[in-house]
Amino acid sequence: MHRITVIGGGFAGLTAAVTAAEAGAKVTVYEAHHTLGGRARTAEGPYRTNEGPHALYNGGPHWAWLKQRDLIGPLATIPPLEAARLRLRHRGALRRTPPFAMLKLLRRSARQAPVDVDFLTWATEQAGEEGARAAAHYAAVALFHHDPGALSAAFVQERLRRAAKLPPEAHYPRGGWANVIDRMAARAWNLGVRMETLSRVDTLPTDTPVVVATSLDAARRLLGNASLTWPSGRTALIDLAVRTRRGDAFVVSDLDAPGWLERFTAQDRTLAPAGEQLIQGQIPLAPHESRADGIARAEQLLDLAFTGWRERVTWRREAVASGRTGAVDLPGTTWRDRPGVDRGDGVYLAGDQVAAPGVLSEVSFNSALTAVSLALGQRGRQPLDLKRA
Ligand SMILES: Cc1cc2nc3c(=O)[nH]c(=O)nc-3n(C[C@H](O)[C@H](O)[C@H](O)COP(=O)(O)OP(=O)(O)OC[C@H]3O[C@@H](n4cnc5c(N)ncnc54)[C@H](O)[C@@H]3O)c2cc1C
Repeated sequence: MHRITVIGGGFAGLTAAVTAAEAGAKVTVYEAHHTLGGRARTAEGPYRTNEGPHALYNGGPHWAWLKQRDLIGPLATIPPLEAARLRLRHRGALRRTPPFAMLKLLRRSARQAPVDVDFLTWATEQAGEEGARAAAHYAAVALFHHDPGALSAAFVQERLRRAAKLPPEAHYPRGGWANVIDRMAARAWNLGVRMETLSRVDTLPTDTPVVVATSLDAARRLLGNASLTWPSGRTALIDLAVRTRRGDAFVVSDLDAPGWLERFTAQDRTLAPAGEQLIQGQIPLAPHESRADGIARAEQLLDLAFTGWRERVTWRREAVASGRTGAVDLPGTTWRDRPGVDRGDGVYLAGDQVAAPGVLSEVSFNSALTAVSLALGQRGRQPLDLKRA
């Protein structure tokens, strides 16, 4: 029987553990934290926050895999009245519909954007500068980057299409992502996976193949390999609970600058106590900007879309997520140029900044599948989902 070690019990580590155990391997997972889930954890307590605004996109390969195994659990659905409360800030004012020029970039018939050119240059040729900027800022919901227009046009176009698709791809596991993580952990447990929490690994084991399913930063330290880097975003996070008031927005997407606020209790009442609403937002920060700058921009959006919110606040928390929001690809690069999964000597990387396709956590998922199939010696066989990508 194959034995395999997985370091990290987040979405990538649990995907790897389940996949390897299903293939008959004897799996041990080591997780440094006292709970599993990594960045897909949901906070305990009265306010069930994910780490920043999180949505599970149903167009990704992880969706079918999770669904097949009944690991998604109940989903929160958005009542139509709430869905109609999506707002866009454009030229300083709130509106319900995107500028016409931005729609040009969302047409199914829109041309495939090139890898080698930045999004703003390419999109300006297609739709004019105003539409291009609005589209780039809208795509920031899945990019977490302060200057989406400067990234590879092909990379941004894929995220723009996925984030703007109708019906929406964004889905919300009821009670937060922890429900999916708990189900994945239960599946792993039932397959006989050994899961050791509070177990930080400082030295790579040499007696089994190893899937290093940590952040790329942690993998760089663990493997002692300074070349394991790839750009990511830096974004200010704001979590806010306010007393309920009719007429609050559901989503505010900033088209004047990158930024996104979402009232998660619009679709899932279980996330905050009765009579309160939970809002989570992210405002990408330029290198010279501070958390306070991002929070000030979030407050401007709140002022526009949540009347009297300051007097209604019952709980508030702020943070900065730096390098924690997945890979971004600069012009001239694609996911194939990121640090490779196979590191040699039986060591494989999985995570959201390594060489695998997909949006955000889908990269963790796809790389985990590849890592396991390589670790189990199925070199000739690419995972089905990767073949399609
Ligand atoms: C603000 C924010 C918003 C996001 N929004 C979305 C979204 O809407 N949709 C989406 O799909 N994705 C989203 N993501 C991305 C998603 O959360 C991540 O891609 C995914 O959770 C990464 O999973 P992972 O297992 O690769 O890494 P992690 O979750 O970082 O897991 C790595 C684990 O390894 C452990 N570890 C590290 N070092 C060691 C060690 N030496 N020994 C043992 N254990 C170790 C850590 O404790 C951690 O539990 C968002 C992320 C952030 C931060």
